[in-house]
Amino acid sequence: MDNKNKIDWNQYAIETQAVRTGHHRTEQDEHSIPIFATSSYVFDSAEEAALRFSGESPGNIYSRFTNPTVTAFQERLAAMEAGERCLAFSSGMAAIMALCMGLLKVGDHVVSSRSVFGNTVLLFQNFFAKFGVTTDFVDLTDPSAWEAAITPDTRFLFLETPSNPLIEIADISKLADIAHRHDCLLVVDNVFCTPTLQKPLQLGADIVVHSTTKYIDGHGRCVGGAVVASDELIEKQIYPFLRTGGATMSPFNAWVFLSGLETLAIRMKAHCENATALAQWLEEQNNVMKVHYPGLVSHAQHELAKHQQTGFGGVVSFELVGGKEQAWKLINSTRFLSITANLGDVKTTITHPASTTHSRLSEQERVKAGITEGLVRISVGLENVSDIINDLKPGL
Ligand SMILES: *Cc1c(COP(=O)(O)O)cnc(C)c1O
Repeated sequence: MDNKNKIDWNQYAIETQAVRTGHHRTEQDEHSIPIFATSSYVFDSAEEAALRFSGESPGNIYSRFTNPTVTAFQERLAAMEAGERCLAFSSGMAAIMALCMGLLKVGDHVVSSRSVFGNTVLLFQNFFAKFGVTTDFVDLTDPSAWEAAITPDTRFLFLETPSNPLIEIADISKLADIAHRHDCLLVVDNVFCTPTLQKPLQLGADIVVHSTTKYIDGHGRCVGGAVVASDELIEKQIYPFLRTGGATMSPFNAWVFLSGLETLAIRMKAHCENATALAQWLEEQNNVMKVHYPGLVSHAQHELAKHQQTGFGGVVSFELVGGKEQAWKLINSTRFLSITANLGDVKTTITHPASTTHSRLSEQERVKAGITEGLVRISVGLENVSDIINDLKPGL
């Protein structure tokens, strides 16, 4: 047991880290990580209680900020992202909010990709703006636009790669260099790839954020989020907000995500294989104008994706001849594909971004973002890919 606690997991492959890290076996000798359903913890003495509260003695106090099941999840995801420390939150948006609350103050400025999750845009535009934090939105794939948008008040650059729903790729190393030259941090939302396909911290990013709701759960059960960064950033800037702000991940959800991490690598590999096969098939269809998938040689950043990622991911989007009418017809003609905007599930999901996830944008903003009326997005699941193709055939 003591011997096992001394293992340096950084020396191991991600599949091994996914299964073995985070578990500190209790005196009950359990093989599987237990759910610690407890809100508070007891101390041996008044002296010990005082030491815990002052931080001089490590250990749990209250589950708003530490719980052994949640801590196990944090250790595991930190190991897999090759980061020093991870903090878990009640949702992906709570993780992004906590990151902002920890890092930003009135007068600060953020540069964000235009192609980020819709609620992330709203968080910057509608909420942080109220507290005097301004945000400029730029084109994900244009490094000169990122550099031009930086001001002396910029604290961090924020992006998702691959982006949603056009699956564009940002050069993480290049943007990390730009950020660091201007004394800014680079934050990468790694939801689409997960650490099994892309490790932003190793490419130079400073902070990774996750919605664990997507591939990390992988089965569409629980909502959660996480931030991975250096020990110093977490300890000094983000943990104090979690402790006070309290957007905490529940132990039950952490337990679900722990087992999600265990199968993440094999699931992502299967998602990539199915998505590649589907993208190749779509490219051959007459009424499909364009397929967006970085695994295709026709993708503008195929080489960058190959260099930066170890797989091309599970999300494919494509543009149909015939606009919205054809897109809705295709969606309505499917028999088992789930019509939902969620992604990263073992079940294949299909959505029309222009009328759902991106419907709050004006038509002009949508055109600028490349979200056409004929665009359909599929998060390719783990059904047999021939069945997925057969479900799409009648509508095409
Ligand atoms: C879903 C999602 C989020 C938000 O996560 P929630 O868990 O839904 O709060 C953030 N970023 C990306 C890329 C997402 O897909």
